[in-house]
Amino acid sequence: MARSRLSERSVSQICVEPRPQGLHAVYLVETHNEQEAEILSKLFGDFSSVLQSLQLSKGKLVSYAVQLQNQDQSLLDEIESFLKKNFGFVILHRSFDHMIYDIVRELCKDSGSALSGISKCDICGKPEPFPETAISFLDKENVKLGTRLYCATCTAESARRNNKEFLRALLAADRSDFEMLNRMDFVRNRSSKKRIAFRIKSEQCATM
Ligand SMILES: [Zn+2]
Repeated sequence: MARSRLSERSVSQICVEPRPQGLHAVYLVETHNEQEAEILSKLFGDFSSVLQSLQLSKGKLVSYAVQLQNQDQSLLDEIESFLKKNFGFVILHRSFDHMIYDIVRELCKDSGSALSGISKCDICGKPEPFPETAISFLDKENVKLGTRLYCATCTAESARRNNKEFLRALLAADRSDFEMLNRMDFVRNRSSKKRIAFRIKSEQCATM
C-alpha cells in the first residue's frame, strides 16, 4: 500500500460520482498519414452524443476505446463497415479487456506508434478507459484536491447497502492508504441534490 499524495488533512468533502455505463468496444485502424488520422478523429467526434470515445494510440496504429450510450449495437457495425471501406486494416473488438489492450500495446511497439496513457483503476490497477465510479476530494473552498477512479468489477465488489458504506468500502480497498480518512466519520451533505456528497464530521477535523 502506498501513501496517498493527497493531503488528507485538507479534505472537507468527498463526492461519489457513478458514471453512465454502456457497451464497450475497441477499434484498431492502420493509417498511412495525418489526414487518415484526422478522418478517424472527426468520425468519433461526430458520434460523441451517442458514443463516448477515448484514443488509445496514435501514429501508424490509431486505436480508440468506445462506450455506447444505449444498447443498440448497430452503430458499432456501421462504424466498422465505414472503416473497412476506407482503411486497409481494421479490427473491431466488442469489449475492452486486457487481451485487446495487450494487442494494442504490441502493435504499437511493432509499428512505432505511440500509446496514450489511460486511467487505471485505483483498486485493482487495471487500465480502465471508462471507470464506473469516481470519487473526488474537495477542500473547504470546494477546490478539487484529487480524484480516484474505480472499474466496474471493483465497484461491484464494494457495493454496500447504502452510499456511505459504499464510500467506506472504496476508500478501504483503494491502493492508496487513506489512513486518516479511513478513521473519519462522514455525514451526507444534503445541500447537494445532484451528487452524492459527504462532508467530514467537523468535530473530528478540529481535533486532527
Ligand atoms: Zn478495479
